[in-house]
Amino acid sequence: MAEVKVRLYVDQPLALGQPVALDEAAANYLFNVMRLAKGGGVLLFNDADGEWLAEVEQAGKRSGLARATAQTRPRTAPPDLWLLFAPIKKARLDFLVEKAVELGVARLMPVQTRFTNAERLRPDKLRAHVIEAAEQCEATYLPGIAELEPLGRLLSRWPPDRRLFWADEGLAGRSAMLNAPKGTPSALLIGPEGGFSVEERDLLRALPFVTPISLGPRILRAETAAVAALALWQAALGDWT
Ligand code: SAM
Repeated sequence: MAEVKVRLYVDQPLALGQPVALDEAAANYLFNVMRLAKGGGVLLFNDADGEWLAEVEQAGKRSGLARATAQTRPRTAPPDLWLLFAPIKKARLDFLVEKAVELGVARLMPVQTRFTNAERLRPDKLRAHVIEAAEQCEATYLPGIAELEPLGRLLSRWPPDRRLFWADEGLAGRSAMLNAPKGTPSALLIGPEGGFSVEERDLLRALPFVTPISLGPRILRAETAAVAALALWQAALGDWT
């Protein structure tokens, strides 16, 4: 079988000889878009059994069947990093989510802040983007997606051992993230286009598990700030070191 590059996330168990049903969306992607046929190979992964090579046994218009033949990689957990973000305009949100998955977040947590316009969030679309990005960046896991939650409520039940790095455009100086001990369970908080309210800032500054971080002297768009903060964390504390 030629080198297999096509990857697909499946919400089904994967094991040696396991038959895997391919639904209409999967059939369309594999057989129409990627031009796969009976006998062709596809890499399947779920969020538990790792990545498996599978052979297409049936290739129909609306469905198909593949059978797992060999595990190619075990599930490798991402670094212990959560991303808290205020929903932003659709195209920018899609970009932010895609980049967050590529940059290795373990959990995406949309937060409702004072200046957030939340009706923009479509959980089904969010999940589809997460799956597509995981397929593309060769992840063997699927990052978790939390429900939208008011920032204040989330902070009131925050796990004290997890450091929250708050991207605060009002802050100057070297990013404190660089001094944090490696392996710290972490989270990043990125604000909405309109930034954080005075009350939210006062609340964040008063919390012992919060570390404000600067991403330089210029005001970044939220999605840029997310990419910059994720790259900084991965380089300083994550799996890039
Ligand atoms: N507050 C500004 C405003 O009112 O127009 C801009 C908000 S900025 C577009 C969105 C978010 O990106 C901010 O809330 C912050 O989390 C992050 N951010 C942008 N630039 C930053 C910087 N230079 N340092 C740290 N965080 C930054």
